[in-house]
Amino acid sequence: MKREDFTSEQARWQAVERRDAQADERFVFAVVTTGIFCRPSCRARRPLRANVRFYPDAAGALAAGFRPCKRCQPDKAPPEQQKAMRIAAACRLMASSDAPLTLAELAQNAAMSPYHFHRQFKAVTGLTPKAWQQALRVQKVRNALRKEEKVTDALYAAGYACGSAFYREADAALGMTPRQYGRGGESASVVWTLAPCQLGLCLVAQSERGVCAILPGESREALEAELLALFPGAQPSQDAAFDERVAQVIAFLDAPQGKWALPLDIRGTAFQQQVWQALRDIPAGSTLSYSELARKIGKPGAVRAVASACAANKLAVVIPCHRVVRGDGALAGYRWGVARKAALLAREAKVKKEK
Ligand SMILES: [Zn+2]
Repeated sequence: MKREDFTSEQARWQAVERRDAQADERFVFAVVTTGIFCRPSCRARRPLRANVRFYPDAAGALAAGFRPCKRCQPDKAPPEQQKAMRIAAACRLMASSDAPLTLAELAQNAAMSPYHFHRQFKAVTGLTPKAWQQALRVQKVRNALRKEEKVTDALYAAGYACGSAFYREADAALGMTPRQYGRGGESASVVWTLAPCQLGLCLVAQSERGVCAILPGESREALEAELLALFPGAQPSQDAAFDERVAQVIAFLDAPQGKWALPLDIRGTAFQQQVWQALRDIPAGSTLSYSELARKIGKPGAVRAVASACAANKLAVVIPCHRVVRGDGALAGYRWGVARKAALLAREAKVKKEK
């Protein structure tokens, strides 16, 4: 269907008659008998054509002396934008709250059902509200540890009810003990930047030792939160030399059958490192199952541990965890989404065929 331009009065009236939401933001209509103006999609009863006047926007209708309809709120931002604003408000609320907020509390504040709030939040930020708050708390601990002498004070300041809950999360999130972190933490030297790639947006981070994170995603906010959960001290890069290195990373991501030539900073347990090394030996265009991979590293019984090591990978494509599929050939999960995994495998299969 061609895009309607709603320039003629007749086209506008027809849009009003069919309550066409596509016409919202294109014009408003006012009713002289009630003195009220509406969006074309308003659910209120339709007026008589003879009583209707059209205005290009709310400002025009207001200037002509009409009042905005309470139902469709034509003087406010469109519903989609309002949703995004409510999510942004929720993010601010979480940032200023001392204790973690429940889904019910967040949803109530955003005037949405918990179900819709969760869905909307994830759609906008790429993270669940819970994961978002975890990332926030890690950041708070980071800031507090720099100032506080004692680790426990920092934990309470960041809203952790008890130390052990923190240590469980910190292990995964800080990547080092809080005490180490308080002493300056080596992740303080991590810099990062964003670049577009065929997978969407990509965050590339490097430490003094080499490239330490490659994270594909959709939004800057979500990627930054994901990185800060891994490397709490990471800073946006200001370095032109790093941009050149990032260009090399992106070139490899877009054509992973080529050769990787940059130093890597691979952090993980000995077992994870063993799995990741085995992953790097799988050539582009081939796949292995989790049990084949477990056999390959000489631990045939460790299939589940192998799968979680794959899921803990921080270097997308360079450590090709997307080349591991389930025993029956199904794609199974992928840290960065099954759709991305499918796209990567399809591209590699195509390149292999063309060779
Ligand atoms: Zn209305």
